[in-house]
Amino acid sequence: MSDALTITIMRKKIVAGNWKMNKSLEEAKTLTAEVMGMVADEVKGNTITVLCVPFPYLVPLKNQMGSSSVKIGAQNCSEHDSGAYTGEVSALMLKSMEIPYVILGHSERRQYFGETNSQLAKKTDAVLSENMIPIYCCGEPLEVREKETHFNLVEEQIKEGLFHLSPPIFGKVVIAYEPVWAIGTGKVASDEQAQEMHAFIRNLIREKYGEEVASNTTIQYGGSMKPSNAKGLLRQPDVDGGLIGGASLVAADFAAIIKAV
Ligand code: PEP
Repeated sequence: MSDALTITIMRKKIVAGNWKMNKSLEEAKTLTAEVMGMVADEVKGNTITVLCVPFPYLVPLKNQMGSSSVKIGAQNCSEHDSGAYTGEVSALMLKSMEIPYVILGHSERRQYFGETNSQLAKKTDAVLSENMIPIYCCGEPLEVREKETHFNLVEEQIKEGLFHLSPPIFGKVVIAYEPVWAIGTGKVASDEQAQEMHAFIRNLIREKYGEEVASNTTIQYGGSMKPSNAKGLLRQPDVDGGLIGGASLVAADFAAIIKAV
């Protein structure tokens, strides 16, 4: 029997809401309660729901979630351990608040805050060293897709940000493919475009870490995912859930996407 046939695929489907810089504390609590109420029965087996919320809301919302199946996540963290970095939040701080997930390298962080692949490699190390799960974002802007160099760019983002990790450590990473031209634009990647890039990313992982690690890596799609297009995207064999921006701010829409998984 070939190795490929003996490998057990354990990869999880993860649907994460990225709230970005939205909502007052009261609104955030209401949205959390609504999501918890709507997805309670859906979050079973291999599907995980995460809400990635602004830093000041992490503790109150985590407390509100209690032992619910909905999990909390942060949207960024510093590459530094501690010290004179005004306004920054370290991985150790997040760990001390028992935050399990951290988004890293979202295209808005890359674009507006100049985050680079090498900086993200350090942030990834910081998050993993505290035993949290990084959701590492990659994806090409429109001009790169138009030049048809999107595979090269994504390959660079994955290799420079993640491929220094040893195989067991890499196994903890979640990847989110988010074409920048689809984020917040209402312009979604087609099912075929998403599958093509996800399969490409999984193949990069296969070449570097082997079949077992590749088969078990969760690769989310992000970019204008909504209830109306979620089913098609989530049906693709290499799409393992979603990173959801706008639609995660409306409980019914977010819940509908989770139900589509
Ligand atoms: C995002 O910001 O990660 C995202 C996918 O946003 P949206 O769903 O609004 O396109």
